[in-house]
Amino acid sequence: MTLAHELGHGVHQWVSRRQNYFNFDTPLTTAETASVFAEMLVFHRLQSEEQDPKKRLALLMEKLEESFATIFRQVVLCRFEQRAHAARRTEGELSPDRINQLWLSENRAMFGDALTLTDDYRWWWMYISHFIHSPFYTYAYAFGHLLVLALYHQYREEGETFVPKYLELLSAGGSQPPNQLIQEKIGLDITKRDFWQGGLRFLEQMVEEAEHLAEKTKDRPI
Ligand SMILES: [Zn+2]
Repeated sequence: MTLAHELGHGVHQWVSRRQNYFNFDTPLTTAETASVFAEMLVFHRLQSEEQDPKKRLALLMEKLEESFATIFRQVVLCRFEQRAHAARRTEGELSPDRINQLWLSENRAMFGDALTLTDDYRWWWMYISHFIHSPFYTYAYAFGHLLVLALYHQYREEGETFVPKYLELLSAGGSQPPNQLIQEKIGLDITKRDFWQGGLRFLEQMVEEAEHLAEKTKDRPI
C-alpha cells in the first residue's frame, strides 16, 4: 500500500505534466487524491483475496484507524484552533490553563467514553507546530481524505466509465480550485452535503464490516 501510495503521486505528476508551471502542482486539498485512491485500490484487492477473517479484520482496522486519524482527529485540531482564536478575540490573552481546557473539550467531543483522557493530555496541543506556522490548515487532511472516499465510492458504484473522468481530473493538476475541477471532470458538486455523506457512508460500511468480522472471530485465537 505504501508503494501504491507513492506510485499514485507519480501517476498524478505524470498525467498533469501537460499543465504549465503554475498549474501543474496541486493545492494541499487535492495533493493526496491519487495516492490515497491508489491505496484504496490495493486495499480492496487484498481484502478480496484474503480468506482468513482475522487477517481481513486486521487489514480493515488498519484502514479504519488511519481514516479516523486523518478525518476526525484533524477536524478536532481545526475546531480547537477556531475556538482558541475566537476565545482570544473575546477574552483577551489566553492563559495556558484556558488553552488546555479548550484542547481537552474538543478532544473529549471526539473520543466520548471510548478513551479516558488523563490530566497530562491537556498539554498535548503544544507539540503541534501547525498551530503556529500554518493556522487552520489541518482541515485539508480531512477534506482530502473524505474527497478520496467519496470519489472511490463513486468509482465502485459506476465502474469502468469513472476511469477516464478520474484521469481527466488528475490531468488537470491544480489548474482550477477543487470544487470546479470535481464539478467539471466528475460531474459532482462538493458544495452539497450529500457528496460528503458518500465518503462517510463508505466509512460506515467499513465499520459495520469490521464489527461483523470481530463478532465472527471473537473466540478464535490470533
Ligand atoms: Zn502522500
